[in-house]
Amino acid sequence: MAELWLEFNPSAYLTDTQLSRLKRIPNLALACDRCNAYKGSNLTGIDPDTGALIPLFSPRVHAWDDHFVLSDVTIVGLTAMGRTTVRVLNMNDARRIQLRAMLKRHEQL
Ligand SMILES: [Zn+2]
Repeated sequence: MAELWLEFNPSAYLTDTQLSRLKRIPNLALACDRCNAYKGSNLTGIDPDTGALIPLFSPRVHAWDDHFVLSDVTIVGLTAMGRTTVRVLNMNDARRIQLRAMLKRHEQL
């Protein structure tokens, strides 16, 4: 459980001063290392339903609940932007599903 907490808790890695500085950068959003790695420099992706090129969700601009819903332990994209972001960030890969299931069992999800 401690390993999971460290993986998803940026404050475990950053001091309060470092977090405070990061929060003042307007176009920066905290993300787990996996999302950050999958996103890379991508600003768009291909919608799996339509094949259209779609902008990715930006937590600084868009509201999570408008684009995603958690169905049990799977993140479902409600819009083209949500579907595309789920796909590009590989939000439902097997390990992530496994981690969410573990969090749910520990009532952390
Ligand atoms: Zn993430």
